[in-house]
Amino acid sequence: RHFRTWETTKVRTTCPHCGTGCQVDLLVKNNTIVGAEPANGAANRNLLCVKGKFASYKFVASGDRLDTPLIKRNGQFEKATWDEALSLIASRFGALKATYGGSSLAGFSCSRSTNEDNYVFQKMMRTAFGTNHVDNCARVCHSATVHGLAQTLGSGAMTNTIADITQDVDTILLIGSNTTEAHPVIGSQIRQAVQNGTKLVVIDPRKIDLARHAELHVQAKAGTNVALINGLMHIIIENGWADDAFIAKRTEGFEEMKALVADYTPEKVAKICEIDPADLIKAAELYAKADKAPIIYCLGVTEHSTGTEGVMSMSNLAMLVGKLGRPGCGVNPLRGQNNVQGACDMGCSPFDFPGYQKINQPGVVEKFERAWATDLNPNVGLTSTQVLPAAIKGDIKGLYIFGEDPIVTDPDISHVRKALENLDFLVVQELFMTETAEYADVVLPGISFAEKDGTFTNTERRIQRVRQAVQPRGGAREDYRIFCEVATRMGYPMAYPSASQIMDEIASVVPTFAGVNFKRLEAIEGLQWPCRSQDDPGTPIMHVGEFSRGKGLFMAIPYKPAKELPDDAYPYLLSTGRMLYHYNTRAMTKRTAGINQLAPHSYIEMNTQNANEMGIKDGDKVRVYSRRGTIETYAAVGDQVLPDAVFMTFHFPDGNVNEITNSVCDDIAIIPEYKVCAVAIEPVK
Ligand code: SF4
Repeated sequence: RHFRTWETTKVRTTCPHCGTGCQVDLLVKNNTIVGAEPANGAANRNLLCVKGKFASYKFVASGDRLDTPLIKRNGQFEKATWDEALSLIASRFGALKATYGGSSLAGFSCSRSTNEDNYVFQKMMRTAFGTNHVDNCARVCHSATVHGLAQTLGSGAMTNTIADITQDVDTILLIGSNTTEAHPVIGSQIRQAVQNGTKLVVIDPRKIDLARHAELHVQAKAGTNVALINGLMHIIIENGWADDAFIAKRTEGFEEMKALVADYTPEKVAKICEIDPADLIKAAELYAKADKAPIIYCLGVTEHSTGTEGVMSMSNLAMLVGKLGRPGCGVNPLRGQNNVQGACDMGCSPFDFPGYQKINQPGVVEKFERAWATDLNPNVGLTSTQVLPAAIKGDIKGLYIFGEDPIVTDPDISHVRKALENLDFLVVQELFMTETAEYADVVLPGISFAEKDGTFTNTERRIQRVRQAVQPRGGAREDYRIFCEVATRMGYPMAYPSASQIMDEIASVVPTFAGVNFKRLEAIEGLQWPCRSQDDPGTPIMHVGEFSRGKGLFMAIPYKPAKELPDDAYPYLLSTGRMLYHYNTRAMTKRTAGINQLAPHSYIEMNTQNANEMGIKDGDKVRVYSRRGTIETYAAVGDQVLPDAVFMTFHFPDGNVNEITNSVCDDIAIIPEYKVCAVAIEPVK
């Protein structure tokens, strides 16, 4: 510690990494953050993980922060004034709009930034740019949740609260979530629950940390979730464990679903999932017979070519046993980024205005035309996963990327490179010179969470304050003020005195935020939407008494295999995911030295049996290739994965696994299949 506590002031804010939304006190000395301490937030109860404690602030004062606008001239970035950069942006985007129409322009918003920034970004795209091609990184992580839960339950969000599903519950059904590494504070709470007697059932293709604490680990092959859930439902119906009264009173579509799952016998499902049928029966019994039993899931369910169907299967299963709309139950997606829930809520989506008000629903466009006093594009836009191919075709000419790094995070990177190279004009607004920013015509310096006021919404729909702890560095500007400048110069005047006033506007156009304002958000527990009036205390548990869509909708969903499976040429099934120490592209976590020492480079987990067959030892360099490309990385040999399965994280530029992942998408949410593709491996001599 290079400070004495009495020399510092404490600023309470929200951790900028994962969707848990831990409350943290930043310790500030002389306009520099020198430490972070846990606060007693509703989601974290005085806990912080290694990222929150040590990697939540060092990047803020990193010497390589962008602090002035940059314009690319003759292939080189040159420093520019704000006036030069903003004039160029307005004139180039304006010219593209005049020549090709607003639909030639697109924007990717930042799910790491505040609700207020996201709201103003999508408003700028829709009003000044005239396009609904606006999206955020939920497209490549939890868009399947938004679509799947909205269709079956009426609202695409976590149904219960973190405390409610980890305290005093009988069984936790954890599917496709490596909680200890991706949402560490929730992982700790699940471990505590197990110590207090909760039975944990883990369904995951890897031997994750929580599998060691589980009553039962069903190590099903990646890409078989729909078959597995159909199998569980078959067993529950056959054994009379279904909640008939709940089904009759609160749901529709049951008979079609029941007819479909009749065919999914334990033996058939066990063969598809490569598991023991007895484990399937045990899992069904542990879940169905428990009184309080939440389903908790994450990207192991969503990032598939059948991701939305996998999410709908979660709703099917919970409705079958009446475990929705009451404490200790529900369907609970763990959202990834700190504010990916908020970016979706704020309408950074090609389908929705803020508050999931659908573009193609009668009256909605007119409502926002009145609220924003301008004509709007009435057509549903393209997803980020559709914008990139459209840029390759030449249909998208201009792109504004706010705080995203698709060159690192999107599948099959070579097609992302082609798309960015083919654009007429690219603006990137960032904290650092990222790999994506290198492709930009103009780079704008935005500011970090610690330099701004606003709100994040965590995975349990809890809107919490983000508070300015230090002054912005150099010439960097507050992000929403940059969007206001761009919109104004493009002919749609926009200005807000503060983030609080933006939230007031959000409350005026989004019914589920109508009772939200900064005064009420001063309380450490924030507010959980829906919060429809000043007297509404918010909603910890959704769908009590009635689903948001009226009746819950059962879907009959046949199992479909992943789009690319191992064969003779590419014999291994590759899944990707996260690790504890780093967050996504490491833009923030790699600027903490201790974290880098703990996790310095990429690796591929492989089973000892396969490694022995190829003469590969733990730590050896290996070459991994798919139909999309080739990378080199280091072998991590053990029994974490089953034979013929391998696993990599996507955090590292050396051996970036997204050079080889498959960009094939789910048909409904257009989410890519990061969790399954076929690869070959060979030792590097
Ligand atoms: Fe931050 Fe997530 Fe860790 Fe909490 S669990 S401290 S929100 S990274």
